[in-house]
Amino acid sequence: MALIVHKYGGTSMGSTERIRNVAKRVAKWARAGHRMVVVPSAMSGETNRLLGLAKELSPAATTPELQRELDMIASTGEQVSVGLLAIALQAEGMPAVSYTGWQVPIATDSAYTKARIQSIDDQRVRADLTAGKVVIITGFQGIDEHGNITTLGRGGSDTSAVAVAAALKADECLIYTDVDGVYTTDPRIVPEARRLHTISFEEMLEMASLGSKVLQIRSVEFAGKYRVPMRVLSSFTPWDIDIAEEARSGTLITFEEDEKMEQAVVSGIAFNRDEAKISLLGVPDRPGIAFSILGPVAEANIDVDVIIQNVSHDGRTDFSFTVHRNDYQRTVDLLKNAVVPATGAAQVTGDTKICKVSIVGIGMRSHVGVASRMFKALSDEGINIQMITTSEIKTSVVIDEKYMELAVRALHKAFDLDQGAAA
Ligand code: ADP
Ligand code: ASP
Ligand code: MG
Repeated sequence: MALIVHKYGGTSMGSTERIRNVAKRVAKWARAGHRMVVVPSAMSGETNRLLGLAKELSPAATTPELQRELDMIASTGEQVSVGLLAIALQAEGMPAVSYTGWQVPIATDSAYTKARIQSIDDQRVRADLTAGKVVIITGFQGIDEHGNITTLGRGGSDTSAVAVAAALKADECLIYTDVDGVYTTDPRIVPEARRLHTISFEEMLEMASLGSKVLQIRSVEFAGKYRVPMRVLSSFTPWDIDIAEEARSGTLITFEEDEKMEQAVVSGIAFNRDEAKISLLGVPDRPGIAFSILGPVAEANIDVDVIIQNVSHDGRTDFSFTVHRNDYQRTVDLLKNAVVPATGAAQVTGDTKICKVSIVGIGMRSHVGVASRMFKALSDEGINIQMITTSEIKTSVVIDEKYMELAVRALHKAFDLDQGAAA
């Protein structure tokens, strides 16, 4: 008898009919003798709807006081879901009880709209499990030390589920979603994308951090830190599918590398449209210049991603970096008001219509020429590369946003990801 955590995303919880289906599936697992904890998301579209209402009243939530209220509002979507799922389970004759984040409690820091889980009290949940109940816990939310409701960032129910699984030392965390696993790239962009039977934890971490929204990055970090066995699978199979078959389906995140070493050089392609590029032109090229540009940016709590500095001419150079699009205007203003006067730079320019496309694979460690193959594929399509960044297991390029889909498809083909058996 195992302790299993199931997580159901928004589409999987999208209607009362789907919730009934989830209840039947969970009841099947419970009747097979497993202790079940379920972490659902809000019904699809609900979080957007709730945040949209807030936006109608105040277009930009820039202060902590406003962000506190956003969390208050957004967290209600999950509260509705857990209640509905508990009712559906009870209607199936399965004892079930629902809890919000603060009832468990799931303790987080106070960073509204992107809080981090600090600890989870497992007492109440364990008592219910011992009493034979299915325990349903809201995804996406927690409570800070002052009793304020917090949320974990968009897509955060994945993280709630894995954190709950870690706290309970669950045997497995199953992430049920609207695709049947992790694919070589988003199957909505490349229909030829293939499902991976397994993906290494490191690759999954890169894919998530580089934009694959199938799993929130923090959920993968949690899984790695606490070695939570984790699988991504479909909630759209018939609920009464054979349980052993279901338990083997989807994509398993693996922590052992050895078996993957001989496999494809590139395992997947990720992309993201969330960034913007900012350039500071005509910066004096002297020691400390990068710090005098990026120091104030870091102090303003703005994350910087890709950075390049050009070769200098006549003692001046150009310096470019990317930030999240939401931080674009703030960064430009900061550079114009503080950095340009302090450094004597000539001009600030920016571009919000960029995207970052990345190839990911632990096989890149042991192969040369992977990046140049990437650059050739892009050049064959006439796509100009604006910025490049690499690590041991990934290469990312920043390109014009309008070429994103073309680039992803070209790279998918260039690395033979549409060929052969899934890894
Ligand atoms: P949920 O609501 O279940 O959390 P999400 O929409 O957050 O679902 O994540 C699932 C979606 O992630 C899929 O519908 C798919 O379009 C997208 N996706 C992006 N990259 C990948 C990938 N590499 N493999 C599978 N799905 C991906
Ligand atoms: N409901 C939240 C969102 O839409 C959390 C989640 O679905 O994971 O972002
Ligand atoms: Mg999600």
